Amino acid sequence: MQAVDLFAFDNSYARLPDRFFARLPPTPVAAPRLVRLNERLAWDLGLDPQRLASAEGVAILAGNCVAGGSEPLAAAYAGHQFGNFVPQLGDGRAILLGEIIDRSGVRRDIQLKGAGPTPYSRRGDGRAALGPVLREYIVSEAMAALGIPTTRALAAVTTGEAVWRETPLPGAVLTRVASSHIRVGTFQFFAARGDVDGVRQLADYVIARHYPQAAQAANRYRALLDLVIARQAGLVAQWLCVGFIHGVMNTDNMTISGETIDYGPCAFMDAYHPGTVYSSIDSQGRYAYGNQPRIAQWNLARLAETLLPLLDHDQEAAIRQAQEALDAFAGGFEKAYAAGLGRKLGLLDARPDDLSLAQDLLERMARNSADFTLTFRRLCDAVVDEQSDANLRALFAEPGAYDEWAVRWRQRLAQEDATPDARRDAIREANPAFIPRNHLVEEAIAAAVGAADFAPFETLLTVLAKPYEDQPEFGRYAEPPRPDQVVHQTFCGT
Ligand code: AMP
Ligand code: MG
Repeated sequence: MQAVDLFAFDNSYARLPDRFFARLPPTPVAAPRLVRLNERLAWDLGLDPQRLASAEGVAILAGNCVAGGSEPLAAAYAGHQFGNFVPQLGDGRAILLGEIIDRSGVRRDIQLKGAGPTPYSRRGDGRAALGPVLREYIVSEAMAALGIPTTRALAAVTTGEAVWRETPLPGAVLTRVASSHIRVGTFQFFAARGDVDGVRQLADYVIARHYPQAAQAANRYRALLDLVIARQAGLVAQWLCVGFIHGVMNTDNMTISGETIDYGPCAFMDAYHPGTVYSSIDSQGRYAYGNQPRIAQWNLARLAETLLPLLDHDQEAAIRQAQEALDAFAGGFEKAYAAGLGRKLGLLDARPDDLSLAQDLLERMARNSADFTLTFRRLCDAVVDEQSDANLRALFAEPGAYDEWAVRWRQRLAQEDATPDARRDAIREANPAFIPRNHLVEEAIAAAVGAADFAPFETLLTVLAKPYEDQPEFGRYAEPPRPDQVVHQTFCGT
């Protein structure tokens, strides 16, 4: 009997022209061992978790065996890194195994990250260390549970090989799932070569795969640009509403699908401040929390530039089209951000002063180093019982700063008809209790890497899978770090 393939691959990207990628298999590793399989995601993808966890499955997830139907490749892309254009980046340590159609009919990429060198590795070794793999696993799955578009983590395997960073570290491979891995930088790759035909083929591919509604528009490429801009504006608003800092918003780390990608030096803020930066390599604060909308728009301007030859034959008309599309970013972002903040405050409908009410709170939080996540979460209790204000004011260095704002908030709440219980439920659904706090992520990674103890990693994943539920048994995971636990810097860890 013929063995049924583990993945029912249908590889549309591999059918694009040869200059879009380099075909090559992953490089085998010494001793693969599965440390985590995302069984729920496997099910959503229509995969058999038992077979994935078997020796046959783990060999595939480690890159030791090429699954039936896979057409492995490393994709070419370019990108602006910290504002500087690099005409050739590409998958330097990732191999796309292929695409499958998930249970809801969505085409998803299956990619191994850390699968060995490729023609795009430059000076890199093509590998990933266990710490950053677990970090991406934790944070990307937390983002998904928060309801934020993101790439997913299907599995993590250790390789039995050391990777050399400053010291030898255990190596690992992450299986990443994405609605696609096409980036702003993928468009830049062709545009930088004057390959308008390549840009067009990529744009047509993206329209078919992600934005089929654009195909009906009078100007399909303008429609594509509008749709990508709208999705990114919504995404960044969602980031801000949970205190997420991507950390390395280079154009090669921004997807065309609107999913969050590339969890390197990312972090969730503890104490609120718009200037917060964690990434060790972001010395200028280019990618600070509060700069993210501006940077997203800058990145989208780079995308628009690549599309100019497609937008109109007349260059000036094309520039006008691009400018109009980009001008919509600010409005789209502000609308989504204001709506998100309104939900966080438990407001049921939108009124003109709501943004100023939210900004007043944020400014008070910034001046008083109030914990971002807890401040909003504790509004759940404060909305039903003013006695609970004690727990909120305690988060502010100067508690009176909260009291003054709370008077204004309650006046606004009184303008709407809603029971306190309904209001509390609404606030609860908009404000997570649990986010992947840096000290918890570090703690889980340290145990796994330092002592091969994956229990803290597993527990953290369990807690973060239900971020909006109270989970009193895991109360510690909702707390901000003690002063000695505060993580000040995160590292790319490539
Ligand atoms: P990143 O900053 O992780 O988005 O990566 C930027 C570029 O460096 C991409 O082209 C990556 O494929 C490449 N890269 C990162 N780490 C490695 C590595 N260890 N080996 C080879 N290429 C890498
Ligand atoms: Mg990247």
